Amino acid sequence: MAARMSAWESAQHQLAEAVRQLGLDDGFHDLLRTPRREVAVAVPLRHDDGHVEVLKGYRVQHNLTRGPAKGGVRFHPATDLDEVRALAMWMTWKCALIGVPYGGAKGGVAVDPKALSRNELERVTRRYCSEILPIIGPEKDIPAPDVGTDEQTMAWMMDTYSIHSGYTVTGVVTGKPVSVGGSEGRGGATSRGVMFAAFSALREAGVDPRGATVAVQGFGKVGGLAAQFLHDAGCTVVAVSDVGGGVYDGGGLDTAGLLRHVRAGAPTVVGYPGTDTITNTELLELDVDILVPAAMEGVIHDGNASKVRARFIVEGANGPTTPDADEILAENGTVVIPDVLANSGGVAVSYFEWVQDLQAYFWTEDEVNDRLKALMERAYGQVSALSAERKVSLRTAAQMIGVGRVAEAHRTRGLYP
Ligand code: NAD
Repeated sequence: MAARMSAWESAQHQLAEAVRQLGLDDGFHDLLRTPRREVAVAVPLRHDDGHVEVLKGYRVQHNLTRGPAKGGVRFHPATDLDEVRALAMWMTWKCALIGVPYGGAKGGVAVDPKALSRNELERVTRRYCSEILPIIGPEKDIPAPDVGTDEQTMAWMMDTYSIHSGYTVTGVVTGKPVSVGGSEGRGGATSRGVMFAAFSALREAGVDPRGATVAVQGFGKVGGLAAQFLHDAGCTVVAVSDVGGGVYDGGGLDTAGLLRHVRAGAPTVVGYPGTDTITNTELLELDVDILVPAAMEGVIHDGNASKVRARFIVEGANGPTTPDADEILAENGTVVIPDVLANSGGVAVSYFEWVQDLQAYFWTEDEVNDRLKALMERAYGQVSALSAERKVSLRTAAQMIGVGRVAEAHRTRGLYP
């Protein structure tokens, strides 16, 4: 069997297809696929016992043509430059697709945050932030949480940047706690957006979301609340999982109880009372209406795509489906709502947070949620219409809109010198 495509290869493959459909020339293709700026940094960490370990950190600004760069920071042992590049590129198309005035970026540190104490985590965060300080800022590049980071990480980054500036700069990161310039509704924004995207697709297919069955891979910030929101909206969430494995209940899981369980510090959902244990492999192959991969890249690939029985895949994660898998799923009639659309609620409300920080004027949670819904439904409508018009998948349509808008901005600005 051929080696599985990496995230960076998948991102390049998807871009090439959008470029082909849009009829862009080779020069444009080169401009769009090459990251504008890449920084690799050493992040020395003094552990609590005194020994020093030097970690690797990255920040990639894939494109800056439509505005400052925007994208999360990932703390994960497998993070490397190629993964960060792919995630940065997807951010560029996502921001353009949903119409927020940003380019795309991503950052990361190759570290397992679960293996660190809170003090160690704070030191890693502050040192990483110091190392990338020259290239971030509210007008340059605005980080946010991703896998392994959270609102506390963002508070430490905001504080570090502010101390170096000599005054408080709330707009340098988003996904902060509300007490330090965060937005109401940001915490659940990605998950709420996953629900809006799923329901737009179901509505279009004439399927009633009430009673639809759901499986969610990854019970973290995105997956946990996506399961909860879908449950609250009347779906039956039959399975959820995390890196430790999954739980199943055909009659519907107690999503609120599971959220309390992990928030209280349980290392995994596995073993939650009244549930059966399943593997992540089994979860992806369940006969459900909606499958939400909300963990890592490349989990649906040429080796398992033919076993996926879900009618709709709503990509909470970035890059969970490889291009090979996309082909197999399309042949089997599975509708894939692509990452750049399905999980764009996070960056949408990050944009709202940044706007509120810059204006120092804050909105209510209802205002945030209403604007999020309007923005996502508009983006879904545009993607769906282009997909029908050009007879391409929702993914290719979404990429064509994102890539096309970035290309248009390049064309309008011109090439310097
Ligand atoms: P998180 O760290 O909060 O949660 C990740 C979850 O995935 C955890 O439950 C973890 O145990 C699980 N997991 C990790 N590896 C796994 C594996 N191999 N198999 C099964 N489960 C595994 O991260 P998050 O912020 O929820 O991000 C999840 C995905 O959503 C990522 O792809 C991220 O890029 C994407 N995303 C996040 C946001 C956001 O606002 N946080 C926005 C858009 C997209």
